[in-house]
Amino acid sequence: MRTLRTIAEMQLAAESERGAGRRLAVVPTMGALHRGHVSLIERARTAADVVVTTIFVNPAQFGPNEDLTRYPRPFDSDVAVAGAAGSDIVFAPSPEEIYPEGFQTFVVNERAASGFEGAERPGHFRGVATIVAKLFLATKPHLAVFGQKDAQQVAVVKALIRDLNMDIELDVAPIVREPDGLALSSRNAYLSADERARSVVLYKALTDAQRRAAAGERSATAIRRAMYGILKEGRPDRIDYAAVVDPGSFVELEDVPLTGALAILAVRFGSTRLLDNMYLEQRKSEA
Ligand code: AMP
Repeated sequence: MRTLRTIAEMQLAAESERGAGRRLAVVPTMGALHRGHVSLIERARTAADVVVTTIFVNPAQFGPNEDLTRYPRPFDSDVAVAGAAGSDIVFAPSPEEIYPEGFQTFVVNERAASGFEGAERPGHFRGVATIVAKLFLATKPHLAVFGQKDAQQVAVVKALIRDLNMDIELDVAPIVREPDGLALSSRNAYLSADERARSVVLYKALTDAQRRAAAGERSATAIRRAMYGILKEGRPDRIDYAAVVDPGSFVELEDVPLTGALAILAVRFGSTRLLDNMYLEQRKSEA
């Protein structure tokens, strides 16, 4: 396992692997690796000859009052975890390497990034699309693995790849959860024991939405109301949103289609924001 720090070294390594006919996969992360990240690296391992895990806490995707400075950075253990999961290379550039003096070019998504996370976190997806484009140009992958956990990010990355004609395959890995349903996240470490206990309402609200859809509920408004009701039982400090959307456009739906609707939510406990989502399927009619 190699740790590379500069874009030039990374591009050279990627070129040499490509030249030898090997298939490269990249798994972009912000570190503080948990079993969710490990599942992405393992998927990449089965689908490629060379697996690059990137570790970069991207300042451009954090708002001024967000957790950039306190975001956990257990670098040595991250390198060990990435290696044990099957990474061949960890690419961990410094902020100055990525955003040197004079940096002035950003990638902006004008549709899928507009609502929800984009509305709650102005500039977030501009930072995400820019860093993902830069990491793709540095690591030159055939395949990129992202997690369904950040569903709107997946929509933005899909559009990025398509709109900028990037020759990169996208693989989306399912959400890895704790036994009680809470989606794994590096930010779960911020939760107090009491907040952690109350956070089960996210999973409860999503599985309830899934049950209602499967039982034939067609009204997204009814599902949304029920999600808010369950979320409130956990006494969160704020419900940023709970909604049913089209997973490609991230436009809110009024009617739940037979397949392919996504229930999404973002909730705050103290200053910790938790995100989650789940696909909804209507039971097919007998006719
Ligand atoms: P992050 O380090 O939070 O930027 O996440 C890096 C990648 O891991 C993203 O593609 C996330 O969607 C994915 N990821 C984070 N948490 C999970 C999880 N619980 N299950 C699956 N993938 C995840």
